[in-house]
Amino acid sequence: MSATEIDYYELLEVSRDADDKVLKSAYRKLAMRYHPDKNPGCSDSEARFKQINEAYDVLKDPQKRAAYDQYGHAAFQQGMGGGGAGGMGAEFGDIGDIFESIFGSAFGGAGGGRQQQRRGADLRYDMEVSLEEAFRGKQTEITIEVSQTCEPCSGSGAEPGTSKRTCQMCAGHGKVRAQQGFFVVERTCPTCHGRGEVIEKPCRSCGGEGRVDMPQTLQVDVPPGVDSGTRIRLSGKGEAGPFGAPPGDLYIFLHVKRHKVFERDGTTLITRVPITFTTAALGGSIEIPGIDGEMIAIDIPAGIQSGKQLRKRGSGMPVLQGRGRGDLVIEITVETPTKLTARQKELLRELQETETGEECPQSKGFFDRIKDAWNDLTE
Ligand SMILES: [Zn+2]
Ligand SMILES: [Zn+2]
Repeated sequence: MSATEIDYYELLEVSRDADDKVLKSAYRKLAMRYHPDKNPGCSDSEARFKQINEAYDVLKDPQKRAAYDQYGHAAFQQGMGGGGAGGMGAEFGDIGDIFESIFGSAFGGAGGGRQQQRRGADLRYDMEVSLEEAFRGKQTEITIEVSQTCEPCSGSGAEPGTSKRTCQMCAGHGKVRAQQGFFVVERTCPTCHGRGEVIEKPCRSCGGEGRVDMPQTLQVDVPPGVDSGTRIRLSGKGEAGPFGAPPGDLYIFLHVKRHKVFERDGTTLITRVPITFTTAALGGSIEIPGIDGEMIAIDIPAGIQSGKQLRKRGSGMPVLQGRGRGDLVIEITVETPTKLTARQKELLRELQETETGEECPQSKGFFDRIKDAWNDLTE
């Protein structure tokens, strides 16, 4: 086993359940102690300094830490991504990615390693929007704390003005071979992590890591028609890759809040509208406010029953990245009056007397219910 395989928690001298704060202070203390500047010419200190950085790099990241807890060092030997980030990428690569913003490739020039470099981790950001915002779309800004390529060293991890030298462990190949039983196993060089070079003197700003945590403000464009579960990918806005490697992506997970009036099923909106029993019996027209704020006129056919659904085409939610809108479904509730004037009672009694069931069988059920409700009322 090579020296890099010391348990990360042991390296940082913390327990396995140490929280971020404990980790950070343990890392700072040890990084100070083993910093090459404090131990000039001591290769043991230099090696330990690198190990500490490597351990902290993994444990400070919840995804990587979880992968490490589960798989140990093996999680990071296939060029990162083997653990959390890669799996996540695969899972995300499907329908939910509705668009991709290509931002300037600030990181593009850096790196250029000998093998495929491990890219930075993908990040998740949860965003709540109202149904109206989901209808219209929304442009907003978010600020997140995310690791970015260190400026003074351009992500190389080497103190500006100092150079890198070819890794002696792997002679610059980035990979080492080891006999394991009958097999020869090739894996990423533990000394240079596959880069083929090692840093002589770590950059002071980033401790040799090539990246630093910084708040970042991002423009988020929420298109019309998003739903809970829609993900927006901001390409390259995830965590910076180590040593100038490409950054990961940022995924905005959308959650649409419940609405007081409308329920939603895909592009269909559903609303419940109470009408008076006279409108139900005689028919008429009502107006209700739509999700776009416009009033919608609804024709009520005479004799409509409670629970009946009417459909207004094109008054639902917009199709995400498409044309047109879904439908609005109006579910009718017939309200039985609870306060009647003497005159109204008189009219209803008159109506009741005409109900012999012969002239209009369709409306018979309706008036039976009125009668039942009436009886309940007078008990
Ligand atoms: Zn730096
Ligand atoms: Zn190497």
